[in-house]
Amino acid sequence: MNRHRLDFAIVGAGMVGMAQAALLAVRHPNMRLALLEASPETTVQQSDSYEPRVVALTQASRELLEEVGAWEDISAQRACPYVEMRVWDADGTGSVRFNSRDVQLPNLGHIVENNIIVAALRARLEALPNVELVNSFRLESWWRDCGLWHLQPRGEQSDDGVEGLREQAEIVQTRLLIGADGARSKVRDLLRIRCQETDYHQTALVCVARCEKSHRHTAWQRFMQSGPLAFLPMAGLGDDNHCAVVWSADDSLARELLMLDDQAFALNLEKAIESRLGKVESVSERFSFPLRARHAERYHGPGAVLVGDAAHSIHPLAGQGVNLGFQDVRVLTDEIDRALSRGLEPAHTSVLARYERRRRGDNASTLKAMSAFKSLFGAGDLHWRWLRNTGLSMVDASPMLKKRIILRAMAV
Ligand SMILES: Cc1cc2nc3c(=O)[nH]c(=O)nc-3n(C[C@H](O)[C@H](O)[C@H](O)COP(=O)(O)OP(=O)(O)OC[C@H]3O[C@@H](n4cnc5c(N)ncnc54)[C@H](O)[C@@H]3O)c2cc1C
Repeated sequence: MNRHRLDFAIVGAGMVGMAQAALLAVRHPNMRLALLEASPETTVQQSDSYEPRVVALTQASRELLEEVGAWEDISAQRACPYVEMRVWDADGTGSVRFNSRDVQLPNLGHIVENNIIVAALRARLEALPNVELVNSFRLESWWRDCGLWHLQPRGEQSDDGVEGLREQAEIVQTRLLIGADGARSKVRDLLRIRCQETDYHQTALVCVARCEKSHRHTAWQRFMQSGPLAFLPMAGLGDDNHCAVVWSADDSLARELLMLDDQAFALNLEKAIESRLGKVESVSERFSFPLRARHAERYHGPGAVLVGDAAHSIHPLAGQGVNLGFQDVRVLTDEIDRALSRGLEPAHTSVLARYERRRRGDNASTLKAMSAFKSLFGAGDLHWRWLRNTGLSMVDASPMLKKRIILRAMAV
């Protein structure tokens, strides 16, 4: 049996879990951490083709990635700054433009492919001597004994019926367990924390589109009754004509769109974005994600705490999911630092409760705003159409309001 005596065990090596491990490791070089990840080790290629899953990183997220030493690598690979965001209603004339000039900043954020963030964080973790990244460890059950955790992965049957040796070997003891294992978190289940769930009955289709015209470093978002469509600018592989597409559509429409061949899909896409970027010349493979909002009723249990999508997952229309997760990481780490400086155990209930108090409001208000947006733009009757078109035009005409909206969105 392989026993690890750790200060922190983090379950889930997605963007949030990796950032959490890196920040704790950088701030506490004498502490030992392990990051336990269900999937086997994969080599992330420094690819010369685009990955369709992207995130719009805010300035606050960039600062976190700078602190852990991953941003330089990300920006050297591919990160597309966007200076403008255009939002408009498909049913009417309401529209709003947010420009970085409104807040005297060089940009509003960066669009980055998920695999570039993951690769940069992984490279950083590999360079940190106090972190161990354990792959093929799918947490299945645990028990606690004398205040220490024993984490048991799923034993997988191999072809000859013998359990995988690695799976048998890993038992981990840790002072604090951090669940960063995504929207269907096992850590959350094992803590018996319930979730408030809303099924949006929508599916997000993502792909990369090559357009006739340059994206002009602008994020384009058109709200239709069937869901929002976003064209997000991608950093050039030789041009400024590639966009990451996120089309959130009612499930039935999404199913139809998935069935189309590439040419027909490109035509639908071009029509849906009102040809703002000219012709959609080609599209990549499409991927789909069912959309559900989830919010954990508590963020912590005895000796364990949730961050990122394990605690909350939201509609991608505002592009805030991973940004909220990165802010969880920053606040949790600040609270751990504060506890350690006062001689408190990081898993002390008061420490975890302070973290939850500082994060719940922000996460809950973003979740509520996304649901309200979805209902407002999903409503077809005249009254609602008038209200949202008037609202968009009012925001567009008010520099003060725009400034407040931009600064609020960038701080997440
Ligand atoms: C279409 C779409 C577009 C989006 N666009 C944006 C955007 O523009 N901006 C933005 O901020 N966010 C965006 N998001 C949201 C963002 O992608 C998520 O919020 C983010 O990926 C969550 O990261 P995470 O690390 O918390 O979870 P995940 O990425 O889900 O990572 C969880 C990790 O845990 C591992 N794991 C799971 N179970 C176990 C287990 N039992 N044991 C061990 N390991 C386990 C998984 O293998 C995985 O590696 C978008 C989401 C979608 C679907």
